[in-house]
Amino acid sequence: MDKETLEKIGRFSRRELKEEELYTFPVILCDNEIDRDCERFSDEALEELAQLYVGKTGIIDHDPSAANQSARIYDVTLETDSEKLTSYGTPYKRLKADAYMVRTAGNKDLIAEIDAGIKKEVSVSCSSTRKICSICGADVFGSSCEHQKGAEYDGKVCCHILDGITNAYEWSFVAVPAQINAGVTKKYSPKKEEKKMENEFKPITTQAELDAAVKSAVDAAVAETEARFEGWISPEEHQKQLDELTAQKQESELKALRIKAAIAAGLPVELAEKLSGADEEAVKKDAEHLSQIISKSSKATPKFSAAEGITTDDPIKAAQLEMLAEMKK
Ligand SMILES: [Zn+2]
Repeated sequence: MDKETLEKIGRFSRRELKEEELYTFPVILCDNEIDRDCERFSDEALEELAQLYVGKTGIIDHDPSAANQSARIYDVTLETDSEKLTSYGTPYKRLKADAYMVRTAGNKDLIAEIDAGIKKEVSVSCSSTRKICSICGADVFGSSCEHQKGAEYDGKVCCHILDGITNAYEWSFVAVPAQINAGVTKKYSPKKEEKKMENEFKPITTQAELDAAVKSAVDAAVAETEARFEGWISPEEHQKQLDELTAQKQESELKALRIKAAIAAGLPVELAEKLSGADEEAVKKDAEHLSQIISKSSKATPKFSAAEGITTDDPIKAAQLEMLAEMKK
């Protein structure tokens, strides 16, 4: 590794990295050939991407979680192969990036896969403001033209030319590439996502930073879950509270029934709580029964006062005494 390379990498790391800590590898990001989606980058777009991709982190399968960030681009070159022409007849151009990784126990397998040529397809994620129809030159973003992508018009295949690149977000190792020559696929993010994506990407250059990022993500997830279930109770406790509420409700309903029945039977309201019965019918019956006893006993109060040694003209007490006497039978 030459001094220049170390210097370039040094611009992105907080501390000076030693050669033996580093693993570097080339990556073809994209080219100007028409891809499987019948789209291609304009030459200007490739130049813009060459600027924007310096310093961008590489991840696996476009998953922007911190734990996935594994490599970073420290240099990008726009290569022109004048011997080779694109399918539409212009010199073939491609973006070659140089990326580095800090060797860790965690990326040993990835490095082995890159060395073995297993991990070689990458995909880029960027946003463009224009999509130009290659047949009529109309910007199909926001408007449309009569031409269909992939269809032929006078011997020319219609494709959409991506132009006006505003941002490059990341690049990613992917399983299936969409671009044919470079083995590269691409993904476009609408402009409104830009801010969100930018916020999510924090460069990670050391294992300690990676560990911290993973830990903070885990901590945040745990805190979020705890907050969501704060004040929640166990299913058993929930059932208990539900049972209590149900019992309270039933008791209130019975109380109302007793008062209603007492009034209907011409009993004093204070007597309502003496009424028994589990449903309206039973309570009503009990109220009528008690009412009969009271009307009888109010005429025969002396009998009880004589028998039990209690003198009363209180109909409630009299009724209770009558009930007692009945129970004794
Ligand atoms: Zn068109």
